[in-house]
Amino acid sequence: MKIKYNLLKEEKDTHARLGTIETNYGVFETPMFMPVGTEATVKTLNVEELKDVHAGIILANTYHLWLRPGEDIVDQAGGLHEFMKWDGPILTDSGGFQVFSLAKPKDITEDGVKFKNHLNGDTLFLTPEKSIEIQNKLGSDIAMSFDECPPASASHDYLKQSIERTIRWAKRGKKVHNNPNQALFGIIQGGPYEDLRKYSAIETTKLDFDGYSIGGVANDGENKLDMYKAIEYSTPYMPKDKLRYLMGVGDPIDLIEGTIRGVDIFDCVSPTRLARHGHYLTKYGKFNIKNSKNKDDFSVLDSDCDCYTCKKGYSKAYIRHLIVAQETLGARLLSIHNIRYLIKLTEDIRKAIKEDKMIEFREQFIKDYYGEKGLPYKENLQEMSKDNKN
Ligand SMILES: [Zn+2]
Repeated sequence: MKIKYNLLKEEKDTHARLGTIETNYGVFETPMFMPVGTEATVKTLNVEELKDVHAGIILANTYHLWLRPGEDIVDQAGGLHEFMKWDGPILTDSGGFQVFSLAKPKDITEDGVKFKNHLNGDTLFLTPEKSIEIQNKLGSDIAMSFDECPPASASHDYLKQSIERTIRWAKRGKKVHNNPNQALFGIIQGGPYEDLRKYSAIETTKLDFDGYSIGGVANDGENKLDMYKAIEYSTPYMPKDKLRYLMGVGDPIDLIEGTIRGVDIFDCVSPTRLARHGHYLTKYGKFNIKNSKNKDDFSVLDSDCDCYTCKKGYSKAYIRHLIVAQETLGARLLSIHNIRYLIKLTEDIRKAIKEDKMIEFREQFIKDYYGEKGLPYKENLQEMSKDNKN
């Protein structure tokens, strides 16, 4: 079977949704955060550790696995689940995001995208059909349509053309998709523009995909308001009975704001990337373990956290030592903690939806996480969400 989304409840004051997803590899609840396993591994974690942080689903990157080891090797192994020994659900991206970051504008054509392999410099060509064929062989539970990923600076005119092309590409990909156990998602683009998001959402959902993603919003935290608007302009036109996936977003506040606007799943490399740089997430914000005050601090990262790192009692002093000494265990212990933090956050969000307390939950989160500094953006988004409820 393909996936099945069950909408269990909509929150009273916001667009937040509580749901479950049934897949051939088990059921998980939404909202949910997906850890990213770029090279068919969530960096430094084995699959038991992924179960232990309660990961409901993970993401693997089509571009990287196409180049190395190649989709045929994964296929011969029996598909991604068997290859990496993960018996939970897997989502693959289309490879578009990586390819567009490597391609020159002149190499983007109606047929597909020409770019240089980042490993050996060979010239390669990725088309909507090829992306789907690779994902069919990888055998993920959810595959993504190949979409054009325009730069954040793209004009309204460019974005309009780009949406038209993305819709033509979505149709081409859908035609060659032939894995009966794999869902295929369409992707909604349109930058920060209301008319374009609406148009893209209406036209893409007409194609009747198994679920839908909101693309073109992943950013470095500079344009949060644009991101929230892009979500608000998209979700009202997305079917209620299908899963909604916000691509490449994992800042804790964005999980809350995304949920409030009707998003179900999120992914981001941030928890493992932050860990490699010595950063860890807590209720009271993001901290750097390398800070010298941790040198002789023998307390755990977060005494309320139920992750392996905190339960076992590894101290800040020890983890700081490991990170400073560039020992891989340091990044691993912090990765386990950070991923568990984000997944636990989605568990708390689900509880808030059940109790119809999303607005209160958001307020308390901001107080705890940002403290005196307050929000990293100015407008009152809470009011915007309430007004938008229809
Ligand atoms: Zn922890």
